[in-house]
Amino acid sequence: PFDVLVVGGGPAGAAAAVYAARKGIRTGVAAERFGGQVLDTMSIENFISVPHTEGPRLAAQLEQHVREYDVDVMNLQRATRLVPAGDDGLLTVELENGAALRAKTVVLSTGARWRQMGVPGEDQYRNKGVAYCPHCDGPLFKGKRVAVIGGGNSGVEAAIDLAGIVGHVTLLEFDDRLRADEVLQRKLRSLPNVAIITSAQTTEVLGDGQKVTGLVYKDRVGGDSHRVELEGVFVQIGLLPNTEWLKGTVELSPRGEIVVDERGQTSVPGVFAAGDCTTVPYKQIVIAMGEGSKAALAAFDHLVRTSAP
Ligand code: FAD
Repeated sequence: PFDVLVVGGGPAGAAAAVYAARKGIRTGVAAERFGGQVLDTMSIENFISVPHTEGPRLAAQLEQHVREYDVDVMNLQRATRLVPAGDDGLLTVELENGAALRAKTVVLSTGARWRQMGVPGEDQYRNKGVAYCPHCDGPLFKGKRVAVIGGGNSGVEAAIDLAGIVGHVTLLEFDDRLRADEVLQRKLRSLPNVAIITSAQTTEVLGDGQKVTGLVYKDRVGGDSHRVELEGVFVQIGLLPNTEWLKGTVELSPRGEIVVDERGQTSVPGVFAAGDCTTVPYKQIVIAMGEGSKAALAAFDHLVRTSAP
């Protein structure tokens, strides 16, 4: 069996694998797609000490760093079930291909995915004006016009954040009112360069073949369509943790995030979690790496305390 089995090969999983392997213990990583969300981004400018890198390059370096150690990397493997330890003290992770991996401890780092609008142009202009992360991509739109789609807490927070960087923000909400906390709404309404449009259903992202030039929304009350000229669209309609397969086994928050304590321990003994799939706030690469390292150290600590002398 593995001493530490990491499920997920993004920044959190890669960090967990390196930290575990450096303890000289038997380490494995099973990942559906090694690299994770980093593979879906281009420009990365907030990976501290590396002023500029690109997603595919960072993903390759994550894998290279893990492979410097004696880690069993199982790429293109999707976990479908976690079974808590029985009498033998071993946890089981079942894979879609029918295999079952046994481990003394498990680090869950299956990340998350942004909910998409599913409208024409969204995919085509992804990273060419369509963005999902204001902390990551906000500065790329300095002085420009952007829209934020979604009037929940994350949308309104994003609009407030972006209003300080970009020229103008149009916030579009599907419902007839914003759902964000009142204090955030008050802050948003006080900003001079923000327009708020409710009952607005975004129906298309427009572009010139290279980059975003605008969007179209339908007024859900009047029924007519309107066009907004802009350079960027931030989609803030939800971040979905990849934890569906853990329902009923590990405690999840109402949003589906794995509930962890400050050491990354979950509700199941010997099972730790890190990164975007957890309740830890702010979903970022450096944060996921720090949390992954922490979870691996906590798993090692657990092994030391539970294994026979
Ligand atoms: P992920 O990167 O999501 O990795 C999850 C891993 O788990 C993947 O390997 C996945 O295949 C695997 N997995 C999922 N389900 C299963 C399963 N059932 N079985 C096995 N494996 C599974 N952050 C920044 O700090 N700076 C940026 O500039 C930046 N830009 C971004 C741009 C875009 C377009 C996106 C989408 C995100 C961006 N982020 C950025 C956020 C950053 O990518 C994430 O915070 C980070 O990747 C989270 O790491 P993670 O390891 O927790 O999860």
